[in-house]
Amino acid sequence: MELNERKELAELLFPNIKHDRDYYEKMYPDRNLKEGAMVTRFGPSPTGFVHMGSLFGSFCDAVFAKQTDGVFYLRIEDTDQKRSVENGIEGIFNDLEAFNIVPDESSVVGGDYGPYIQSERTEIYQTYVKDLIEEGYAYPCFMSEEEIAQIREEQELSKIKIGIYGHYAVDRDLSLEEIKEKLCNKEEYVIRLKSPGNAENEIEVVDCIKGRMKFPEHDMDTVLLKKDGTPTYHLAHVIDDHLMHTTHVIRGDEWVASLPLHIQLFKILGFKIPKYAHTAPITKKDEGGIRKLSKRKDAEAKVSYYEEVGIPIEAVKLYLATILNSNFEEWYLNNSDKSIEEFTFTFDKMAIGGTLFDLDKLNNISKTYFSRKSGEEVYNETLEYAKKFDKDYALLLEKYEDDMIKFLSIEKDSDRPRKDISKYSDVKEEFSYAIDELFYKENYAKYDGGKQFSTSLIKKYVEDVLNLEATNEEWFNDIKEFAVENGYAASPKEYKKNPENYIGHVGDICEALRVMITGRDKSPDLFSIVKILGKSRVLERINRYENLTR
Ligand code: GLU
Repeated sequence: MELNERKELAELLFPNIKHDRDYYEKMYPDRNLKEGAMVTRFGPSPTGFVHMGSLFGSFCDAVFAKQTDGVFYLRIEDTDQKRSVENGIEGIFNDLEAFNIVPDESSVVGGDYGPYIQSERTEIYQTYVKDLIEEGYAYPCFMSEEEIAQIREEQELSKIKIGIYGHYAVDRDLSLEEIKEKLCNKEEYVIRLKSPGNAENEIEVVDCIKGRMKFPEHDMDTVLLKKDGTPTYHLAHVIDDHLMHTTHVIRGDEWVASLPLHIQLFKILGFKIPKYAHTAPITKKDEGGIRKLSKRKDAEAKVSYYEEVGIPIEAVKLYLATILNSNFEEWYLNNSDKSIEEFTFTFDKMAIGGTLFDLDKLNNISKTYFSRKSGEEVYNETLEYAKKFDKDYALLLEKYEDDMIKFLSIEKDSDRPRKDISKYSDVKEEFSYAIDELFYKENYAKYDGGKQFSTSLIKKYVEDVLNLEATNEEWFNDIKEFAVENGYAASPKEYKKNPENYIGHVGDICEALRVMITGRDKSPDLFSIVKILGKSRVLERINRYENLTR
């Protein structure tokens, strides 16, 4: 077709386009950012929620934009109506907000490069496609689904590349007259790329994460606009990333295979190609193998899971930072007073293969996170959690506020604070002895069949010796002295030397006291617990223990 015919065709197909591409180029000028600033975007489909893979992606986007004083924007990619659900956009914003991942520009906060919802940009895509038609890089294709399925079958049988290319692209060279006739007959059509590529040529792309990659040139007549005039992902993202001035396209590596097409589209549209960073999928160990984390199979793939089980958002983000850059974890362990924002992330420290998502590791990171919080902070956050997910416990927490904060503060000021909590729901279990109602209800049940201790000696100790005003050293000396007076060795070492001389050692007395007042054989510093409970509650617990084990 000659240029004048192509022009006529373009008008015929897009009679209602109001502007030309210059209009949009002017409307979305270069961003005025400093050298090196990254413009990143998160492009979710409105499926109603964010899963771990896309949370990770948006976390990367936000981190890289922020640390370079760039822009991170959110673009809703709703070109595939099958993947859209009602209120799907709201769910995405809620999930991101819960993780404090806040785009600088979006359909909610606005921005100069909107609309930020692809379905509101149809006219823009069509404008560029109209231009491609004029230039001979696109054409209407009237092939029916049956015809395409038949071609596919044939290609599968002969084991050749699947798709519409070469002589399979039957409508590629229709004349203007033929097209007019089909349009007159109201035949349905899509707009396809008239690919200028040749698969015998090679193209090279340098990915920020995966490095140098080589591909055969794209040579398929891929669909650009669907029958209803809406764009495919391929076309839409290329036009949007150009007009919104994305500098770095960070996305899942399932898109690597389409990269030659995308590069071709950038070239024929005359756009500068952004940098690509393809992230490895989030995987998990399963039955000896490793597979992709699945929205369907894995509860932890849904980001709302963390809120429900009570893993703090910050801990999840620390974990994301850990899997984002392999050198983050060590840095965090050595910089206990710093926050994620103070670390400089780089692409070269990102995984090329799969990124293993390990809940145990996340729990460990969460324990470190909790260990660095003050007792009061842990109390406040746990109360917030309980108000939402465990109302009865919230009431108890409020009733025991002073005690709880004291319990949660035990051993906090040491160099190696305790790491006993990985989620808010652990507090109830780990500190059940802090609340009488829970302690008497749940803990005594656990004594059944356990090691039993004689209460008379412990009672004697509490009544005659225990001094709540003592220093730690005095308390321990007192208990040692008491042990010796009652036939126990002053240390396990001494006991081991001559076990026949003793009933046991001082540790046994501590253990008995610990079990009686906490219901557990391990606890934070015993004297601190005793001091918070006070003598009468300690005695009350010993008496109850006596009744229970009698
Ligand atoms: N809408 C695409 C998806 O949901 C986004 C891919 C991209 O970030 O370019 O997979």
